[in-house]
Amino acid sequence: MKRRSFLQLSAQALLTATFAESLKIRSAFGAEVPVLSLKQQLDPADGQVLVPSDHDFANYLGAFNKRTLLTPQVRVLCHNAKAVVTALQWAKENQVPLAMRAGGHSYEGFSQSTGLVIDTRLMNQIEMSADATSFVVGAGALLGEIYDVVARRGVVIPAGSCPTVGVTGHSTGGGYGLIARGFGLACDSLLSFEMVLADGRVVTVNEQNYPDLFWACRGAGGGNFGVMTQLQFRTHRVGNVFSFLVSWSTTPDKAATLMRTWQSWAPTAPNGINPLLKVSKDPNGRISLRCIGQSIGTEPILRQELKRLTEVLPPGSFSVKRMPFLGAVKYFGGRETDNVTVYMKAKSDYLKKVWDNSEALGFLSQLPPGEIVAIFDSYGGAIRNFRDADTAFAHRENTVSSVQYYVEWADPKDTPFKLQKMRTFHDSVRPYFSGGAYSNYPDIDLPNYARAYWAGNLERLVQIKNSYDPSNLFQHAQSVPLRIS
Ligand SMILES: Cc1cc2nc3c(=O)[nH]c(=O)nc-3n(C[C@H](O)[C@H](O)[C@H](O)COP(=O)(O)OP(=O)(O)OC[C@H]3O[C@@H](n4cnc5c(N)ncnc54)[C@H](O)[C@@H]3O)c2cc1C
Repeated sequence: MKRRSFLQLSAQALLTATFAESLKIRSAFGAEVPVLSLKQQLDPADGQVLVPSDHDFANYLGAFNKRTLLTPQVRVLCHNAKAVVTALQWAKENQVPLAMRAGGHSYEGFSQSTGLVIDTRLMNQIEMSADATSFVVGAGALLGEIYDVVARRGVVIPAGSCPTVGVTGHSTGGGYGLIARGFGLACDSLLSFEMVLADGRVVTVNEQNYPDLFWACRGAGGGNFGVMTQLQFRTHRVGNVFSFLVSWSTTPDKAATLMRTWQSWAPTAPNGINPLLKVSKDPNGRISLRCIGQSIGTEPILRQELKRLTEVLPPGSFSVKRMPFLGAVKYFGGRETDNVTVYMKAKSDYLKKVWDNSEALGFLSQLPPGEIVAIFDSYGGAIRNFRDADTAFAHRENTVSSVQYYVEWADPKDTPFKLQKMRTFHDSVRPYFSGGAYSNYPDIDLPNYARAYWAGNLERLVQIKNSYDPSNLFQHAQSVPLRIS
């Protein structure tokens, strides 16, 4: 480096350091809090403190949903649990509000804060057991990073296809993917995890140690009870899979019949087959249906099973492709680049019984043309190996499917319009569903969110919240409350 550039850089670094060190931020009650005290307590080997004036700060902003993006006053990039303990202690002493961030894909920005963000994204190491039956992973790892490592050993965890989703937020909220009917939700393969609790203890949690916390964090773990620092998962052996896509464009009448056939078939199909149904309305009023998914069973059985749908109506397109599991992740991941961010809104429902014809037609009549896609995820299979009360994830028994409504847009000026359209649509279709919702597809508009997400498990979750976090240190707009209102 030339001497002049070196001097310029050094002066800039000094200025930044001086600024950061004199920087004071605001506590939840408006008091001035010096960031220097946090920097002094944190060994740089354990973690890095970033404030907005730091050169690197902007590189670590970012959330999948740009609608929810906030600029924190301080971000701590943690390398280990010790850094998490230090950041937490500082936040408590100084009453600085905080959020914890893993993969940053929360639909409603629950990993965003204007105070402190405890950021685990650099804790993304993955260590396989010698026999590849399990692995330990840092809390900041992304699903794609995990698949890349474990698939080389011929094993997987059952989780979503989007490679940039974080394993911590995903698996602690349930974690549905295209082999869920074969192997269950991601949380069903969680064996153990390390967590920093509100009182600063670092504990290992599993069936034997803190079993109540283990129960709670398989369905309601994200941002509620403590900061996870590493997780251990059991793996499942998977080689090639069959990815399929069957599509139709048809009238609402025929679409209603197809949807009802899918609803009867999907949760009862052989467990190896995991079909999703994507439904949208074209501007001309015709309905587009795409049954996509993956099978870990045999090709003849898959083709035989798909006849349940194709015999109702011949499809416009039909494909079954054999590919390695990693190929299927890329095939369904769907994005050209890895780190896409968008303006988006989603909502969800649970379907507990197959619709009659008028319910299917009623739903389709409310679906706005061209905007919102409804994605039905098939349940049943191994998801039902647990009962609703066995883990905090409360939507297993008698569940036909979850359905997610999704819309994204490019121009922030469109936000109010898109949000209103989604609200109006959702209000109009809620009567066709059970009232439940999936906490991994959070929706800030949802009245009585805690009951919708956790149903009959809410009372136990509230008790556990009071045991481990009585001062509600870990909270976001839809966290487990200390009391049921
Ligand atoms: C493009 C996309 C595709 C998706 N596909 C699927 C899918 O196929 N199946 C499915 O089930 N879901 C899917 N989801 C939803 C996804 O599972 C959730 O958004 C999940 O919470 C994201 O986890 P994260 O770690 O990336 O998010 P973050 O935003 O980092 O965190 C999510 C939640 O976890 C909490 N949290 C973060 N770090 C920690 C920590 N260290 N300890 C404790 N809590 C923590 C946060 O407080 C927040 O409440 C998808 C989401 C997106 C955006």
